[in-house]
Amino acid sequence: MALRYTDTPENLRLLAGKLRDGELVAVPTETVYGIAADARNENACREIFRVKGRPAEDPLIVHIPMDFDPTEIVRPTALLDQLREVFWPGPLTLVLEKTGAIPGIVTAGLASVAVRMPAHATLRALLREFGGPLAAPSANPFSGVSPTTADHVEEGLGKRIDHILDGGPCRFGIESSILDIRDSARPVLLRHGAIPVEELEAALEQAVAYPEDDSHAGVAPGQLPRHYSPRTPFHLEAAPLRIPDDPAARNTAFLSFRKPDSMPPGAGNHFWLTETGSLKEAAANLFATLLEIDRRGFSSIRAETAPDTGLGRAINDRLRRAAASAAGG
Ligand code: AMP
Ligand code: MG
Repeated sequence: MALRYTDTPENLRLLAGKLRDGELVAVPTETVYGIAADARNENACREIFRVKGRPAEDPLIVHIPMDFDPTEIVRPTALLDQLREVFWPGPLTLVLEKTGAIPGIVTAGLASVAVRMPAHATLRALLREFGGPLAAPSANPFSGVSPTTADHVEEGLGKRIDHILDGGPCRFGIESSILDIRDSARPVLLRHGAIPVEELEAALEQAVAYPEDDSHAGVAPGQLPRHYSPRTPFHLEAAPLRIPDDPAARNTAFLSFRKPDSMPPGAGNHFWLTETGSLKEAAANLFATLLEIDRRGFSSIRAETAPDTGLGRAINDRLRRAAASAAGG
């Protein structure tokens, strides 16, 4: 079992020291919990891959403190200042050419770095105390469901890590949006996430490309068809989900986007992402709901797609990957 810490000044000092010594610390962020290491310590970062069972081809996002100058680790383009002004600190990851300060293990040997300045107050305090960049992927075993509470981290990685900083449930509950801004004339969204593409386009006053297939897999390695997968077999269908009134269906969990107006009595196998239809609420509940269904031991899950707009695109991306078979379908 890992030790749990709250964000007292003494604990933050202690954990910053552990990070300086090359240890790993699970940290809260506004997106999902991460497993963090000193981004400039090659051995510490190698340990992240080992603990997660993550292939070395899947690069890590670098998280920087509020007063850190990103140009220490990336070559800026015209869009960097424009976007950080609006979205940092916050759940927007920017991909830029790297300067050499970040070791190749973090970037999977790529010439670029993915960097963001997180907003979560507890993580910001830890980053300030640590005083440098931290590499941190989601704190779950590779290809599983991302953790949005300290308990989820304990369930997934508790046997393999020593320290979990508890910052409560994650506010967004879905990973950062990843935008490649190396070419200022053509920003490319590499991953749908907590900042909807519509908001990025409004801030940039420019269209953002977001390939819907996996043709950009070479640019953003690690965006595998199968990801975020619950252990329970998972099937996705276009809304609306049809729920049979049949006791034989009781072994199946049904996951609606929105709570239905009326429900059959005793339907303990019916779950939903939002009571109100709010995409924000749905995103925040997505991973916790998948993990909850997993715990309850259903034989399968049938889920419906969310509205394909705003945060709904990020939700649908996760649902599709959860449904992809191990064969990559
Ligand atoms: P996560 O596992 O949620 O931390 O996501 C990390 C993802 O960010 C990786 O799987 C990549 O898709 C993407 N990423 C990280 N670094 C880079 C990079 N240098 N260039 C492009 N994509 C990156
Ligand atoms: Mg992940």
